[in-house]
Amino acid sequence: MLKGIAASSGVTIAKVYKYETPAINVERKDAESTTELEKFNQAVEQSIKDIEIIKNKAQGRLSDEELAIFDAHLMVAQDPALADEVKNMITSDNCNAEYAVDTVAGNYIAMFESMDDEYMKERAADIKDVTTRIKYHIVGVEMADLSLINEECIIVAHDLTPSDTAQLDKKFAKGFVTEIGGRTSHSAIMARSLEIPAIVGCKGVLEAVKAGDTLVLDALDGEVFINPDKDTIAKYEEIEKNYAEEVLALKAFKDQPSVSVDGHHIELAANIGTPDDVDSVIANGAEGIGLYRTEFLYMNSQTLPTEEDQFVAYKKVLESMNNKRVVVRTLDIGGDKKLPYLPIDPEMNPFLGYRAIRLCLDRTDIFRTQLRALLRASVYGQLCIMFPMIATLDEFNSAKAIFEEEKAKLIKEGVAVADNIQVGLMIEIPAAAVLADQFAKVADFFSIGTNDLIQYSMAADRMSEKVSYLYQPFNPSILRLIKMTIDGAHKEGKWAGMCGEMAGEPDAISVLMGLGLDEFSMSATSILKARKIANSLSYKEMQELAEKAIQCTTSQEVLDLIHNTVK
Ligand code: PEP
Ligand code: MG
Repeated sequence: MLKGIAASSGVTIAKVYKYETPAINVERKDAESTTELEKFNQAVEQSIKDIEIIKNKAQGRLSDEELAIFDAHLMVAQDPALADEVKNMITSDNCNAEYAVDTVAGNYIAMFESMDDEYMKERAADIKDVTTRIKYHIVGVEMADLSLINEECIIVAHDLTPSDTAQLDKKFAKGFVTEIGGRTSHSAIMARSLEIPAIVGCKGVLEAVKAGDTLVLDALDGEVFINPDKDTIAKYEEIEKNYAEEVLALKAFKDQPSVSVDGHHIELAANIGTPDDVDSVIANGAEGIGLYRTEFLYMNSQTLPTEEDQFVAYKKVLESMNNKRVVVRTLDIGGDKKLPYLPIDPEMNPFLGYRAIRLCLDRTDIFRTQLRALLRASVYGQLCIMFPMIATLDEFNSAKAIFEEEKAKLIKEGVAVADNIQVGLMIEIPAAAVLADQFAKVADFFSIGTNDLIQYSMAADRMSEKVSYLYQPFNPSILRLIKMTIDGAHKEGKWAGMCGEMAGEPDAISVLMGLGLDEFSMSATSILKARKIANSLSYKEMQELAEKAIQCTTSQEVLDLIHNTVK
């Protein structure tokens, strides 16, 4: 049995699919042309078939725009000029086919990559992708391909990127385990939005399993059992069944209001990463979207997304939410989130460095494009915009001024823009929490990002398993910062929400309600349970609980207090 971090709740039992592509060595060898030409032709045909299968499978799951990538790949695979060059090299140089493909493709890739035009640069990535597939077919090594999975399995990988997870078909991918990551890392957040059980930070799992092993994935307790005995399997089948029943029973809370027994209403909203997540948001009875992490739009793209690309995505989310509140966060890149096409100079402490609003206030071209797209989309719903990683009032005021400038420009151009857009900020840096009463005079709302607020308050990297004991949402110091933020907002008649992972923790609902938090935004799958809890609490008692909690000395003391008060 291996231990990891339960990142997305559930239990599942299935065979292992190891997601790792073996490296192939491409060296020049003398070879007989006819055989090599035959190998090349077959590899091209096979690659075309692969791409068509991947495209068909993705239909319905991906947008037309995303599907167009596969058409571009088919064009490369069928490109006569590229094929002729490879064939000429095979015959004139008497070399092996994979070497000819590698050389010819290498020249094209270098040429496209050196171009200034973003569209042309993207073509380099297409050529690389397709010709790699052709090379693997020539040498007869199977490429790992998540979208080609057609049997029920549990994926075991070192890590999964957002684009990897986007390819997963829930019909077959029953869950996943990765070697790295924590509860607030990206793969964890994506797993929750996919609603499949997942364990992250499970060191050594790749080495411990082989393809076809049976795994029991207990993503309630973060345990992975490899080839367990019959009794263990039977035990977990029972747990899986009970969990499924519990999830089903929670559906009764879907259309209920989120209100305490003494009539205090809170808003339960959902966090999303892509417009496709909205289905689950609605299915789980969310009252709005409290955090749309727009960086996935940038991370799943090969170049900076255009104003139009962004407009389409934002409009889709706003329209599908049917006038419920949608809080969109502007680009939060840097730290652990990198864009291959936007290199950032290496820094000693990237989490404390050039990121999020700091980058946007420097690269105002990127920022303005996003704000324009948001402003244009604003007429399709109830939009709130928030800036990430704000440390000072000057930063907030500068960002807001740029927003106002773009708004004025659009109105002058005759473009319709909503006049009720709220502009707020994330409270992720202790300096902002301490000065919340001042921020509340200029901002429309706050959303507390506890994932970062805790790491900065405790000076403990959220990605590091070694210091994860310091990730203490219930530490009274964190509760006091949360209280300052909420009180600061309320003093000016503004609302305060929370979109860090703490908002969806069952144990935290009581104390956060008592502190007066107005909006709780969490992964969609946590909402019904949160509502069940909220509906069972008394606001008056929770206020008393919160008063006591902030006077506690340790995290454990707070947790004991909660467990003794809330049964
Ligand atoms: C947070 O820091 O709590 C937050 C919601 O932002 P992210 O997890 O994307 O950094
Ligand atoms: Mg954050």
